[in-house]
Amino acid sequence: MHYQGNIIRPPSEANSIILQVTVGCAHNRCTFCGAYRAPDQKFYIKEDRIIAEDIAFAAQYCRRQKTLFLADGDALIIPQRRLLALCHQIQTELPWVRRIGLYANCRDILKRSVLEFTELKKAGVGRIYMGLESGHDPILQAIRKGSTADEMIAAGRRVREAGIFLSITCLLGIGGRELSQQHSEDTAEVLSKIRPSQIAVLTLMLLENTELGKAAAEKDFHLPDQVGLFRELRILLADLEDFRCQFQANHASNYFTLDGRLPKDRDAFLARIDQALTGAVFLKPERLRSL
Ligand code: SF4
Repeated sequence: MHYQGNIIRPPSEANSIILQVTVGCAHNRCTFCGAYRAPDQKFYIKEDRIIAEDIAFAAQYCRRQKTLFLADGDALIIPQRRLLALCHQIQTELPWVRRIGLYANCRDILKRSVLEFTELKKAGVGRIYMGLESGHDPILQAIRKGSTADEMIAAGRRVREAGIFLSITCLLGIGGRELSQQHSEDTAEVLSKIRPSQIAVLTLMLLENTELGKAAAEKDFHLPDQVGLFRELRILLADLEDFRCQFQANHASNYFTLDGRLPKDRDAFLARIDQALTGAVFLKPERLRSL
């Protein structure tokens, strides 16, 4: 496979064929994200010829993998006709692949209609991952996410309306100590309005090559301590309206794992967070946390 730069995929795509169709992230401005910050890394959509070679490789060597993930940061930036052609090529040459997944940012989702998402669904796109990070507008603005909470709601609803599984990530700690409570309350509100199929909670890790990491080093940003982070998780979970979704805080950045379904597992999750708040849960050591 012609992999270039960092290849990042959601935890639930661990067993997928990773087909890199773009390099980097077209937005690449989020202050906390160091995924595609190498100085020589420019965003581009890969040539059809290279992608075709990788599909041919997968046809020969990836016959046991039933799902496929289109990397990198925002494959939905590929124009609709070209993306549909690519999905059809995957369906033809890798007929055992049951689901195509991709990361999509809010602005690229809003450029497409429900009908266009329905077309993508028919062409095999079964899972879209969108980074919300926070539902609190001042935080979204501060981290330069490029979209407002209302736009996130509209984008999320559009994907759901087309019947595509929507996974949304949010980031504990991203509001710092100052906006911690508003962050968790507004994030719960936005998620309740979208009603995604899956909520994935990550915990902010401050990276040296990011603006937020530098702000923290200069004491301009204060990450909540563990108790503060667990409180955020508790508020987020307690404030969510009742709707059915998968809830996962099983990312390598988290101090402990929650993985189950809402609303069924909510009480058990809250009890576990309360245990963590009293120090009764084994926490992942700092050195084992990663992104
Ligand atoms: S968080 Fe996502 S949208 Fe923001 S820079 Fe990183 S990859 Fe791009």
